[in-house]
Amino acid sequence: MIARDTQATGWRARRRRAGAALSLILLGACSSGRGTLAIAPLPAAEPARTAPSGAAPAHAGPLDARVSADDLEALWDRQLMVPIDGMARKLVRDTFTAPRSGGLHGALDLLAPRFTAVVAADDCVIGRLFTGSTGGIVIYASDPDERFVYYYAHLQQYRRGLAVGDRVAKGSVIGYVGTTGNAPPDTPHLHFQVMKRGAGRAWWDGPAINPFSFFALDGVRL
Ligand SMILES: [Zn+2]
Repeated sequence: MIARDTQATGWRARRRRAGAALSLILLGACSSGRGTLAIAPLPAAEPARTAPSGAAPAHAGPLDARVSADDLEALWDRQLMVPIDGMARKLVRDTFTAPRSGGLHGALDLLAPRFTAVVAADDCVIGRLFTGSTGGIVIYASDPDERFVYYYAHLQQYRRGLAVGDRVAKGSVIGYVGTTGNAPPDTPHLHFQVMKRGAGRAWWDGPAINPFSFFALDGVRL
């Protein structure tokens, strides 16, 4: 993963340099023009990425006894990104304890227009691609340490070519928001769940953790 991280950092640095160069070009054009047109500075290429500091935040809602304080610290260290392109952390609503058929929701519903890009909340390995009547088109992915599982459901479609075993960087597009499965057809949303990875064959079915207070980064595609 070190090589991948270096690669991603280098990519971001190149993009920042490209953005800065574009800003200079536009500013130059502005200052050499007639002088009456005020051009606002270009928005930053990416929203501010505020790294979390200190201890893990409090977990909102009920927590399964199999999830330890150490697990929550480790999840905080992952610096999760809101998995919707363009969705700021402040727009996320906590629907972890919302009633759903079958009991506790145990996940967040992130509302966004159909075909909005779903981005990986963390660096991950795609572990399972599945289509069913409840979640519809879904993705299960694990963090690099295989401690957590990220579940994305109701996708309209996968990113083209996505396959089990793919290593995906945080912020990469993995699919698109939709209404497959039992999502209301007029309410496209991403059902996003974080779980502690289960033991054995049912690794994708561990206890849920509410990611609501654990997002460190606003959603933005790489
Ligand atoms: Zn849901």
